[in-house]
Amino acid sequence: MGELQVEKHVKYILAVEKRKDDFESVVMEHLRLNGVYWGLTTLDILGKLDAVDQDEVISWVMQCQHKDDIAGLQNEDGSFSGDMWGEVDTRFSYIAICSLALMRQLDKIDVGNAVKYIVSCKNVDGGFGCTPGAESHAGQIFCCVGALAITGSLHHVDKDLLGWWLCERQVKSGGLNGRPEKLPDVCYSWWVLSSLILIGRVHWIDKEKLAKFILDCQDKEKGGISDRPDDAVDVFHTYFGVAGLSLLEYPGLKPIDPAYALPVSVVNKVILGK
Ligand code: ZN
Repeated sequence: MGELQVEKHVKYILAVEKRKDDFESVVMEHLRLNGVYWGLTTLDILGKLDAVDQDEVISWVMQCQHKDDIAGLQNEDGSFSGDMWGEVDTRFSYIAICSLALMRQLDKIDVGNAVKYIVSCKNVDGGFGCTPGAESHAGQIFCCVGALAITGSLHHVDKDLLGWWLCERQVKSGGLNGRPEKLPDVCYSWWVLSSLILIGRVHWIDKEKLAKFILDCQDKEKGGISDRPDDAVDVFHTYFGVAGLSLLEYPGLKPIDPAYALPVSVVNKVILGK
């Protein structure tokens, strides 16, 4: 099995971060805050967070804050809209619940109703979709299972049924796909793996083969991780590859929390004050 190219990935992330003003960054402006999360979390898992100017990052992130708050986006049926334009999706339920839990402000929303809405998106295959009746998808399953874990509501999940659906996502190469008949993709190392861990069924997949698939997706010369071997790398897949390896307990990586998608040390500090 190849090795994780830690130094090269750090160099790759720092180079992307410095490209703030080029054409691609301006066009992708709406994704830039996500990029900061993917980049910083990867560096932290690799134990290299000191490589960035933290004051500079914090002041940039604070510029993105609006006056309105998350709780105002909860709808009467318990669902959440993504923004003032009103699109409803269980992704937004997860983001609202995760963010408010990190700020210790879950009391600002109707948690019971939020859980009820997520449960209404459960399908007969044990998975979850973006709205009631929508097809099961691994990304959505992570959002729903993660939100249920954070709110102490995992008893709503049929763990054996969902565990089967999730472990069937592993293909011959060891990689995981997001839905039946789709190609494997490194980002599903996160969506599928974290869900399997949260429901206690991670031993149902071949973890060693999955780790090899992720390592095969590295650009061993310039750093970064791609969706599949030999594709172009990006920060999104670099984060999910490294986060997946952390869930697989790859040596030298900080452990990441499967529900909060943040290093365990951060979750302990923010939520438990430890
Ligand atoms: Zn992907």
